[in-house]
Amino acid sequence: MEKIIMNTPLVEMDGDEMTRILWKIIKDELILPFVDLKTEYYDLGLEHRNETDDQVTFDSAEATKKYGVAVKCATITPNAARMDEYNLKKMYKSPNGTIRSILDGTVFRTPIKVNGIDPNVKTWKKPITLARHAYGDVYKNTEIRVPGAGKAELVFTAEDGTEIRELIHEFDGPGILQGIHNTDKSIESFARCCFNYACDTKQDLWFATKDTISKKYDHTFKDIFQRIFETEYKEKFDELGIEYFYTLIDDAVARVVKAEGGFIWACKNYDGDVMSDMVSSACGSLAMMTSVLVSPDGKYEYEAAHGTVQRHYYKHLKGEETSTNSVATIFAWSGALRKRGELDGIEGLVDFADKLEKATINTIESGKMTGDLCLMSTLPNITKLNSTDFIKAIREELEKLI
Ligand code: NAP
Ligand code: MG
Repeated sequence: MEKIIMNTPLVEMDGDEMTRILWKIIKDELILPFVDLKTEYYDLGLEHRNETDDQVTFDSAEATKKYGVAVKCATITPNAARMDEYNLKKMYKSPNGTIRSILDGTVFRTPIKVNGIDPNVKTWKKPITLARHAYGDVYKNTEIRVPGAGKAELVFTAEDGTEIRELIHEFDGPGILQGIHNTDKSIESFARCCFNYACDTKQDLWFATKDTISKKYDHTFKDIFQRIFETEYKEKFDELGIEYFYTLIDDAVARVVKAEGGFIWACKNYDGDVMSDMVSSACGSLAMMTSVLVSPDGKYEYEAAHGTVQRHYYKHLKGEETSTNSVATIFAWSGALRKRGELDGIEGLVDFADKLEKATINTIESGKMTGDLCLMSTLPNITKLNSTDFIKAIREELEKLI
């Protein structure tokens, strides 16, 4: 069989622990036999990040800006225990955080739908994609534990020295204070990412905040989305027959659990954190979810939504059998290959990505799956496979399709 030829390399970001093991098996079994794979390889494994003082993470993000499409393996975000375990020079930042701040993106997460692995919410017929703003709000806050009685004020000092001052509260005893911010620039890029993604995937876009209570902060999000929609996207949405819909966050939650799905739900940073865990858990597992970071200028980084599955890796190191779900990592590869194919006009690559996903779904629907899915499957005859055999079973299905 002739392998599919690629023009532009994918930016390949290797990672850590169990997902690094899966990464290699996926490439060997599911990609390399079929695609004449071109990648620019960056080893984001923690040891190599440490050797390069994390320069490799920055380089991989810059390469993504250059080439436009990356595929990323899950990586360890160091904490105190990892400092000792890997003898690190310093506690490096989360690679995802570094890459996000360089690409200035929004993270989109969609459950992968498989018959026999059914959402707990019975009305959900189609996946709901979460679009999470990944800048500011409570994730970049300043807090004060108020010790006792006193006056709290919000003060902004402009460059020319003029002040805007608002009373927050006159405390008559101990309490708490929090200062948060966002910027028009970041909200605008968040809005454009969401509108572009809606156009790309031909789905309605919902956005929700609490603008009735937060008349300046949340209202600014609402206003910026509305302005960008009307001036830049309305015509395109009309052409595609899709809608932009704004509502209050509590109304959105109530509607989402009664909806059929098949739309994008854009959320502010904190809402997105909470709601994406709710949607993914209701759909079964973090390993059954795709995740892609999209920058406002159309750069894409595909990844799995879960971590490095440390507990399974330690079992693997002891020589014990593991049954780790590789679906999200396989879909990171298929997503990246499809996007590369689309951008370079290589139909064969797009077709291969479709078939790889179909083979993965067929495998599970035929009853062959990893342990996490066995626990929740409603299929009659199920076989629990180990990590390697599951990928090999997908290869058999893939060969049937090709
Ligand atoms: P995790 O890797 O997401 O795993 C937590 C648990 O969820 C696992 O122990 C396993 O449960 C289950 N699980 C997750 N993915 C699975 C899969 N593919 N197949 C089967 N079960 C799966 O989180 P963690 O163990 O707390 O974190 C490990 C490392 O990942 C940390 O160092 C963290 O910094 C990093 N992390 C990276 C990313 C990223 O790069 N995107 C995201 C999150 C965390 P059972 O043990 O019950 O089987
Ligand atoms: Mg969370």
